[in-house]
Parts: sequence; structure tokens; C-alpha cells
Amino acid sequence: MSGIFTLSLDTELIWGVVQWARKEHEESVAMAREIIDELLGLMDKYDVQATWAVVGHLFLDKCRIENGKKHSDMPRPQYSWLAKDWYDVDPCTDIETDPFFYGKDIIKKIIKAKTKHEIGCHAFSHVIFGEQGCTGEVADAELKKSKELAKSFGIELKSLVFPQNSIGHLEIVKNNGFTCYRGPDPLWYNSYPHLLRKAMHPLDVGLAMCPPVVEARETLPGLWNIPGSMLYLSCDGVRKLIPVSSRVAKAKKGIDSAIKQDMIFHLWFHPFNLASNMKNMLNGLEEIFSYVDKNIDENRLEIKTMSQNVSFYTNK
Ligand SMILES: [Zn+2]
Ligand SMILES: [Zn+2]
Repeated sequence: MSGIFTLSLDTELIWGVVQWARKEHEESVAMAREIIDELLGLMDKYDVQATWAVVGHLFLDKCRIENGKKHSDMPRPQYSWLAKDWYDVDPCTDIETDPFFYGKDIIKKIIKAKTKHEIGCHAFSHVIFGEQGCTGEVADAELKKSKELAKSFGIELKSLVFPQNSIGHLEIVKNNGFTCYRGPDPLWYNSYPHLLRKAMHPLDVGLAMCPPVVEARETLPGLWNIPGSMLYLSCDGVRKLIPVSSRVAKAKKGIDSAIKQDMIFHLWFHPFNLASNMKNMLNGLEEIFSYVDKNIDENRLEIKTMSQNVSFYTNK
């Protein structure tokens, strides 16, 4: 019996919320760099490799208006809920002026860490692939731009985390050389109506119910889905009523279940999810990492990044 622990991090600073809810999240995003430093330290302490799925714009430390247009080379998605130009939110300044939009320093830190992490992709500007309004042209440009920027850092992007986990344009993903993506967590209440589903999530975490464990599945030749198992739920709003210990207990159950079934326990979150109740959330994560470490020492568990899972399952 041997399970796999996989960790993926949606790394986006303000890009994940800027179109909808910038104000509500600014405080958390302002703490993201501090949290990332803490995470990298913890990962080094327990030798935990992660897949950092980074928004491509974070590879930049500046951008500017060209030919009177922001990112004039990028096609725009046309969403029914967005009247303005997609790049209207982009300040087109630099990292000193608008550190929420640029993250070259973060990429460098991840690369330089003692632990050899994987850098993955989270689109260039966090467009929602699965929504109508994101054409194949937009998806293709988002991936190509991210790949090109990563390449200038000597990184080859292989793993994709879709913004908002919204799956779309898989053929284009594959044609851009990606070998895997993170599919949605196969939660037991997924088929429930939207509102009920929303209510079930905190309940499920609060009761520390065993999360699903997963396997990599080849959805197109050469392109694998590595679904998530569990979001390390933030302590924002009413979620603060759920003790951090419930999240930890749930993750430990996931690790045990992965070991028992020879499967993957795939934990994921956004670094800024740790902003509320940061100290306790980091302590909780440390407890999870230490449990991973213990099981590795006892030869029951391995850590694999998303793309390492592809190699493993391809040869299985
Ligand atoms: Zn820009
Ligand atoms: Zn995101």
C-alpha cells in the first residue's frame, strides 16, 4: 500500500478576483508575499514539493500600453457579465507601483527554494476557459503567452490549473504541450443544486469528513486529469467558525485513505487563503506536512507534483 500526496497552489495575487471583488480581497492579497515566504519555508522544512500554478502576468515586473492598447497582442474574452475591456483592470505600471499585478520576485523565490518545486500555469490573465465568451483563440493566446514568459525563466510549463477550475478547450491545452490539468474535486455533494452545494462545503469540512482520493486519468491522448481532493478552506467570514483542527483532521483522513487505496490525495489552495487567522492556518498546514513526512519515512506515501504524476501513471 502506497499513496501519493500532491499539492497545488493557485498563485495569482489580485488576478483571481480583480474583475469581481477586488476591494474585499485587497487585505488578503497584501499578505500573499509574506504567506508565500512562510509556505516556502515550511515546504523546505518537510521536503514538500508543490506545483505552483502561476498566473502568467506574474512573470512580469512591468507592462505598458502599446499602440494605445493594453496588451495589444492579446485577444480578449467577451463575457456577458463584463461590459469593459478585459484588461481595463491592468494598471500597466510596474511592480513597485502595483505589486498586486506583478510577481517576478515570487517566481524567483520559488525557483531558488531548496525544494525543487514545479511551476505550472494558471493562464496569463486568469480568463475563465469554460465560460462562453472565452474563444479558442483567447485560450490559445493565454497559454502561449504564459509558456513564452516561463521559457524566459528556463521553465517549461506542463501542468495547468484552470482559473476557477473551469475546464475548457482541452484540445488547445494539449496542443500547447501541457500534459495535465487539475480537474474539479469529485465531492459527494457535487450533484446537489448550487445553494445546497454551497451549504454542504463548510459542513463537510466542519465534520472533517473523509475527502475523495483520486487517480490520474488520460482524458485526451497525452493529456491527464489529476482532480483535486480537498481545498484547504480559508477562515474568511463564517468559515472562521470551523476550527482549523477540522481541516487538519480532514486532510489526515485523505492521506490515510490515499495510502489504503493506492491513490492520490490532492490538496490545493491559494496562498492568500491563509491570510485570515494566518498563524493557525500555517500551524495547521505544518501539522499536515509533518503527517506527510511521517508517512513517507514509514514508506507508505510519496510526494509527487502534478507532472510527476503523469510520468508515474503513464508507466503504471
Ligand atoms: Zn499587464
Ligand atoms: Zn485562480
